[in-house]
Amino acid sequence: MSTTVSPSASPSVVAPFSIGDFFKSFLLVELVKGLALTGRYAFRRKVTVQFPEEKTPLSPRFRGLHAQRRYENGEERCIACKLCEAVCPALAITIEAGERASDGTRRTTRYDIDLTKCIFCGFCEEACPVDAIVETHILEYHGEKRGDLYFTKDMLLAVGDRYEPEIAAAKAADAKYR
Ligand code: SF4
Ligand code: SF4
Repeated sequence: MSTTVSPSASPSVVAPFSIGDFFKSFLLVELVKGLALTGRYAFRRKVTVQFPEEKTPLSPRFRGLHAQRRYENGEERCIACKLCEAVCPALAITIEAGERASDGTRRTTRYDIDLTKCIFCGFCEEACPVDAIVETHILEYHGEKRGDLYFTKDMLLAVGDRYEPEIAAAKAADAKYR
């Protein structure tokens, strides 16, 4: 014959009694420890950073505003392979490609990033075989209407042209960890 035991009939678990815990509670030891920690930091040098006048250091891997890079001879690096577009989880990148009339090489005729969709995951930068699309250290930018954060190829190239020394330095600093 089987016996059914309802959950409510199971014995309740009683925490073991500890004299040490009792005295700790009675003497407010945890409260005193907390106040001591507060007191220690109350008189230390403050570490609040007065942004934007003061800046914290940024990692070479910081993922800020996107940029498209060129080679030293001015040729754009992007070969329109579309790997970045394929890997982008937010579907933020739109690429159209075609043959360049002057030399028949494959180039983008359109390369847009919608930064209102972008989640700054860095996958596009990781996927790019020629280090064309990168995320820079630039974090102080904004748009006042939705379209302002829709970056076209020309805008991305302009960011790359302006910040190439910093981008190259960040790439070099991070190279040994890749
Ligand atoms: S950082 Fe991520 S979300 Fe943004 S464009 Fe690149 S792959 Fe897409
Ligand atoms: S940016 Fe890089 S990954 Fe994206 S299409 Fe150009 S070459 Fe390919």
